Amino acid sequence: MNEQNSFSPNPAPKQGLINFDPIREKSRLLKERQTLCESLLGPLCWNKEGTSALGVCPGIELHTTPDGPRDCIVYIDGPVISLNCFHFSCQEEIEKITAELRDRDPLTLEEKLLQVPSPSGAREKLPKQNRKLIETIISRAGGAFARFLKAPGTRDIPDPEAIIDQLYPDNPWLCIARISPRDAGTTRRENFRGSERTWEWIVPNPMTAPRIWNRRGYWSYRCAEICGPRKYRVLDFDSGSYDEQIALIRYLATKEVPRAWPFMIVESGNRSLHAWYTFLDSDFFARAVALGADRKTGDIAHLFRFPGGRRTNNGNEQKIIYYVNPQ
Ligand SMILES: [Zn+2]
Repeated sequence: MNEQNSFSPNPAPKQGLINFDPIREKSRLLKERQTLCESLLGPLCWNKEGTSALGVCPGIELHTTPDGPRDCIVYIDGPVISLNCFHFSCQEEIEKITAELRDRDPLTLEEKLLQVPSPSGAREKLPKQNRKLIETIISRAGGAFARFLKAPGTRDIPDPEAIIDQLYPDNPWLCIARISPRDAGTTRRENFRGSERTWEWIVPNPMTAPRIWNRRGYWSYRCAEICGPRKYRVLDFDSGSYDEQIALIRYLATKEVPRAWPFMIVESGNRSLHAWYTFLDSDFFARAVALGADRKTGDIAHLFRFPGGRRTNNGNEQKIIYYVNPQ
């Protein structure tokens, strides 16, 4: 069974992820990842759960400001191993070690054979912002958020675990990240059950494979080539008050065509509202872009704030403020 992996000298572990027992699988994986991290980083001080550890930064000699005991931390409970150091001057070394940790990661070795690239579709043509229309809509936006909060769907919202189950039945591959989009990795939905509130980012569209070996000779964990067909569309207005953002979302649902109302609205934990739709029409997205929605979110592999997750830089909850089961 010791099948050689063409990209790494390590043999592929015998046990696959099919029919896995998530709890046993998780503890086995944590132990293997702990051993791997200590082989590259030296002795580490693990937290009680064994999911993250403090250690000496591998680039400590490059630090230009004083060292602290909590500078360097490794996280091993995500779909990919993440290594972070508080200092900036050592980042090249941190990236080098991170790449090595990921390359030798026992989890991703098991998944390497599951690469099934899929066509991602043509790029959407998008219009310019219609400033005049935006000004008109937001000039009448006063009180829109307070009125919205009276709508059905803003109360008795299920917890994030139940919502993720409703949005992603059948245990698909999902791309999630903590701390930074750079740390995105793809895993089965069941592999992060119970930790939903600790994640920061998610790609709304399920993936067809955990990663792909790209032409530049790196593993790519998040790209259009491994995204499945579009399942959800998310709009991010990213500026203006909640009144103004809700007024724009409402305009898209009540005026002109094609029109749609979201099934979920998530607070970014900073200033913006993310509206999730099952309506995938590209003309609808073009209308939203004309009203100021972020055009980059048309990218099928774009990361959005994890519904009900937590924002690392300020600790804020990414609260789900509206939800109606789309199924
Ligand atoms: Zn460092």
